[in-house]
Amino acid sequence: MLTTIIYRSHICKNVPFTSVMDMVAVANVKNAQADVTGILLFNGTHFFQLIEGPEASVLNVYQHICQDARHHNIVELLCDYAPARRFGKAGMELFDLREYEGHEVLQAVLDKGTTKYQLIYNDRALKFLRTFVESTEKENYFEIPPADSWVFVTGAKKLSHTSVHTGAVVPENAADCSFAFQPMVDPFAQKILSTEALLRTPGGDSPASYFAGLSGNALYEADLNSKKVAFAMARALNLGEHSVSVNLFPMTLVMVPDAVDFLLREIQLNGLVPEQVTVEFTESEVISRIDEFTGAIRQLKGAGISVAIDHFGAGFGGLLLLAQFQPDRIKINSELIKNVHKSGPRQAIIQAIIKCCASLEISISAVGVEKVEEWMWLESAGITQFQGNLFASACLNGISAVAWPERKADL
Ligand code: C2E
Ligand code: MN
Ligand code: MN
Repeated sequence: MLTTIIYRSHICKNVPFTSVMDMVAVANVKNAQADVTGILLFNGTHFFQLIEGPEASVLNVYQHICQDARHHNIVELLCDYAPARRFGKAGMELFDLREYEGHEVLQAVLDKGTTKYQLIYNDRALKFLRTFVESTEKENYFEIPPADSWVFVTGAKKLSHTSVHTGAVVPENAADCSFAFQPMVDPFAQKILSTEALLRTPGGDSPASYFAGLSGNALYEADLNSKKVAFAMARALNLGEHSVSVNLFPMTLVMVPDAVDFLLREIQLNGLVPEQVTVEFTESEVISRIDEFTGAIRQLKGAGISVAIDHFGAGFGGLLLLAQFQPDRIKINSELIKNVHKSGPRQAIIQAIIKCCASLEISISAVGVEKVEEWMWLESAGITQFQGNLFASACLNGISAVAWPERKADL
């Protein structure tokens, strides 16, 4: 299968241009052997490369490129398939954009094209090429520092949340479930913004195992009833005036009579106030009864409870749901966050979500952040609220201390 990969990267400091020329000479031979064509553009700071050829060879070449220390912040922009090569000759061709006037370079590149299949702008690969030459996307290039410019210092300099109990609390004996707690943080402000209660079996197994074997009303009732334990544990953890989030299936509010009243009663019984509570709904559960669901949301909001859409971008009709009702917060699904610093498509989607939420004054948080680079990219894009193992993982019957990032240069 003829495969095309396009990436962009940033040249490392202290890499002389002669070393780039040497690299091209070596690649020219290697690519020819692998039947791969490389078109490399360089603008003095950024590289842009199109690689095409047989799938396995292209992937192999790209893997090597990703490990090359002469450039960093490599972002894959396109991975696509085509019936025939755009550029006939295998090998490697370098275009130094600084040596060309305006559109000349584009013509020079296109002149390398296989004449049999006339190159047209309709082709996504060529559109990427043109955009890079015209440098119209530059404001979206975030240059993030290497991961090792940060150290994570656990528990130090906690500005807020000092009263929170980081030890263990145990649910009442009668409870058939427990909870793990995980903080959501603003790493630069060194603040814990809220704490999420994640359902567990008494032995600490996942929500899926807790719900396994339950269906229909029993499932929704168990979901709602478990919140009694969540709020009691939040009280025992001394969450005080801090914010607490709980998760619910959207259908729990629809199927269980007086669900909102139940939540309000448990909140009050545990000395909490509705204003400090957020209910998170998993967007991937199909809401089949949207009218009743939005009715329940009105009740929650009317009582002072905030609403978040969880796993945003993962479910069915996510954007339609947002057109029908606007939550206080959106939590971006960890599947979208994974390796965002290396993926053009993920970056474009997250930037669109950020722009949409800014227009609607909806807060955004990123969930499942594991890598320093993911966090740095998201901060560059304007996200300030994070949940993930990078900072603190979910802790059964308690809250683990947060690892706060500090710049090495500042230590
Ligand atoms: P969620 O609300 O998005 O919760 C975050 C999940 O990601 C949690 O998994 C958490 O342990 C995990 N997580 C957090 N940071 C990281 C990370 O850096 N890496 C990785 N790999 N995972 C991370 P958990 O506790 O298994 O929960 C899974 C989902 O189950 C939740 O996703 C939520 O949608 C649902 N859930 C949790 N509690 C309840 C509940 O009480 N009722 C209902 N209906 N659903 C619940
Ligand atoms: Mn959640
Ligand atoms: Mn999740």
